[in-house]
Amino acid sequence: MSRPEDPRKRAKLNAGRILKRLERLYPEADCELSHGDAFQLLVATILSAQTTDKAVNKVTPALFRRYPTPQRLAAADPQDVEAMISKIGLYRNKTKSIIGAAQAIVERFGGQVPEHRRDLESLPGVGRKTANVVLSTAFREPALAVDTHVQRLARLLGLSVERDPLKIEHDLTSVFSRQRWSFVSHALIWHGRRVCQARAPRCADCGLNDVCPSAGHAQKQLLNAARKRADSVARRGTAVRRKVGP
Ligand code: SF4
Repeated sequence: MSRPEDPRKRAKLNAGRILKRLERLYPEADCELSHGDAFQLLVATILSAQTTDKAVNKVTPALFRRYPTPQRLAAADPQDVEAMISKIGLYRNKTKSIIGAAQAIVERFGGQVPEHRRDLESLPGVGRKTANVVLSTAFREPALAVDTHVQRLARLLGLSVERDPLKIEHDLTSVFSRQRWSFVSHALIWHGRRVCQARAPRCADCGLNDVCPSAGHAQKQLLNAARKRADSVARRGTAVRRKVGP
């Protein structure tokens, strides 16, 4: 079968194959942040910036027991919240964001998490990615969240050449149907966590290796980078020994 020359057509064709494969590999792909409702998901997603869902899931059960609603969190003592989430990165800023978001929800949205992107993005600590997670997971709206796994996988799988998350989101939403945007985001995140890890992509065991244009290359690139690092360390060592002498 001849391959279409137009890169966009090629990406679309490959996207269909990748989607079918992801559906088979990860039929249950969904958000891995523990939450009971839209508010808790919003808080958990704000807390997950630059840290793992696993780390967030360790601190949120106690946090949600003490502050289960926007009203309760809006009136929280910041020091108490900081102590409860101190095991995750940037906890001071995140405390400000989640209390600020809770206050804004109480003051401006009648205590309900808003269901529109613009309103969500007006809350402290909420950017496009967090809004997309809440829209797609809590409100089942078509939205595609681009995190670091999605950014990396989109490039490796030849679905985007961009580095900017917004441009990657645009590329992905152009080749997948709206109904599958949320699934694609979750499935790519699952794949990035389980198989195509940034430091050690397991191409040989990867269920996408026959539809991935980077199969094998990603591992080679990492090996070459590791070799270069080792060479430069060895060169620095030789230089120091020469300076110091025998
Ligand atoms: S084949 Fe390798 S680079 Fe491609 S998705 Fe799989 S693990 Fe990642």
